[in-house]
Amino acid sequence: QKILLLLKDEIPEIEYNRYIKHLIYDVKKSTSDTAIFYAPNSLVLNWIKNKYSAKIRHLFEVHDSSNVNVKILLKNQLESKKSEPKKEQKHQHSLLNPSHTFENFMVGGSNQFAYAAVKSVSEKAGVLYNPLFIHGGVGLGKTHLMQAAGNVFQNQGKIVIYTTVEQFLNDFIRHVRNKTMERFQEKYRKCDVLLIDDIQFLSNKEGIQEEFFHTFEALKGVGKQIILTADKHPKKIAGLEKRLQSRFEHGLVADIQPPELETKIAIIENKCKINKVVLSKDIINYIATVIESNVREIEGILSKLHAYSQLMHVDIDLPFTKNVLKDQLQENRANLTLDIITQSVAKDLNIKPSEIRSKGRSKNLVYARRIAIYLCRDLTQNTMPQLAQYFGMKDHTAISHTLKKINELIQNDEDFKVKIEELTNKITSSS
Ligand code: ADP
Ligand code: MG
Repeated sequence: QKILLLLKDEIPEIEYNRYIKHLIYDVKKSTSDTAIFYAPNSLVLNWIKNKYSAKIRHLFEVHDSSNVNVKILLKNQLESKKSEPKKEQKHQHSLLNPSHTFENFMVGGSNQFAYAAVKSVSEKAGVLYNPLFIHGGVGLGKTHLMQAAGNVFQNQGKIVIYTTVEQFLNDFIRHVRNKTMERFQEKYRKCDVLLIDDIQFLSNKEGIQEEFFHTFEALKGVGKQIILTADKHPKKIAGLEKRLQSRFEHGLVADIQPPELETKIAIIENKCKINKVVLSKDIINYIATVIESNVREIEGILSKLHAYSQLMHVDIDLPFTKNVLKDQLQENRANLTLDIITQSVAKDLNIKPSEIRSKGRSKNLVYARRIAIYLCRDLTQNTMPQLAQYFGMKDHTAISHTLKKINELIQNDEDFKVKIEELTNKITSSS
């Protein structure tokens, strides 16, 4: 509480009253290296997480000389712990997000295969596809889907362990250090369902692969359901033992692709409903086109929009949305490199990145190269000589000539202008 009061002096009062005041510090669960707070809802949670958790940690360091991790959780996680102590004890390893349900998962062409696979596994544990392996890019809903099955199992009273490879590894190390390996093995082997997230992190870690293999075999041997996720197909995970790779492929491997526009719109509408944010159709459409694929960004944007509109007492309209998103896009821009932009342009126009940087003079190569140069100039801080070097051109005059040409096109050709805007959106929202 002392730390929170200190924060009061440093931030606008209205923000303190609206957000920080509602935080509850968990004296019992907090330790010398983790400070746990509870927020009343996910908007407050996200707002504080994004804006103030670093600050809170800093205050701990300055005033308490302690180096703590600041953890902010939802309050209902606290309440459910209080009201169901028995159940909680039984599921102490599993921290499933209760809103990761099948109902809250929007299905479209990009994810319907994975959805159907997880759904059917959730109806028949251990019988159909074991293991079930889901793979796909960041923020496409792998964890959500896996936990949706976990929630179904948990509601049936099954013991569900959800863990990431990283947590599994830390747990393993701790038990090795404390010489309590039997406890570790017992814990993982007595569960009914094992959910392991981000399997790609097993890569090149031999000790944990060995341990994981035995856990896997023990569970599989007695028909316990295993669900795994990774950012790529088991075949493509480098440094993964052959025997693990073949076992991962043994059940069913399903992938998730980036969502189509309609799916993104459905996801945004659903998130608005859950978070009680009201947005008009044109704003939802705008957000859906600006966000390329990473669905995780959508939540951040909604809580930002909601928080800003509350603080500034304005309605959320399109210009306001564009303004708020500008920040987000600028943050993304900071990470853009010439390679990323060139790759995106190449992908969009169906040519190889190396061709864009080659001396090829065919019409479509010249077209792609000009667009790439324009976007590199627009979206990064590189100078014209730097661009000339990167694109293998004689000197900066060649670059400036290209930029002039593109600017003329943008002014005279509405379709081209739209194309450039689309590409800019794609690149800045996917970085
Ligand atoms: P991943 O594990 O693939 O990186 P997550 O499962 O963590 O992605 O998803 C990121 C966020 O996006 C979560 O808040 C999740 O609820 C949401 N999300 C992703 N896909 C969908 C979907 N199809 N419908 C609803 N929400 C989704
Ligand atoms: Mg995940």
